[in-house]
Amino acid sequence: MRIGIGYDSHRFDAARPLILGGVRIPDHAGLTGHSDGDAVAHAVIDALLGAAGAGDVGTHFPPTDAAWKDADSMELLARAVRLVDDRDYDIVNVDVVVVCETPRIAPHAQAMRLRLGEVMGISAGAVSLKGKTNEGMGWIGAGEGVAVHAVALLRSRVAADGGSGGAGGGAWPL
Ligand code: MG
Repeated sequence: MRIGIGYDSHRFDAARPLILGGVRIPDHAGLTGHSDGDAVAHAVIDALLGAAGAGDVGTHFPPTDAAWKDADSMELLARAVRLVDDRDYDIVNVDVVVVCETPRIAPHAQAMRLRLGEVMGISAGAVSLKGKTNEGMGWIGAGEGVAVHAVALLRSRVAADGGSGGAGGGAWPL
């Protein structure tokens, strides 16, 4: 078993649609970003890649690469899942905390769990997602943007994997 942690934050931009966890949330400012700004997807990608010892979202999908301009972050997540699979890991579960004053996350949490699970090839029951406010404190409290924390647990398909990063092996295989 290997655990990974991911974090992301994006600033609100009223000119963009809001997409979180692959779900379009109506009637709210979107998020800045080179891709579609889906901070949930990016935090989950970093948790998965971190658990696999496979770098991070910026390594694999750099904002300097025009290929990822306005990219659907579910496509980035699908690619990260393939990187994890290539290293002989199965995803056990993912847990996500979305921190923002608005929008309310709860009404959309089930749709995000279903969408994230679909893209990761795991059941929605293996994907937890909940929203928290920041009680009005700091930049999140001021409504400037969203922060997302995620953890992922992977199980190696390789017997007696010593935590070397799976089939890639060695130090920090990218
Ligand atoms: Mg991001």
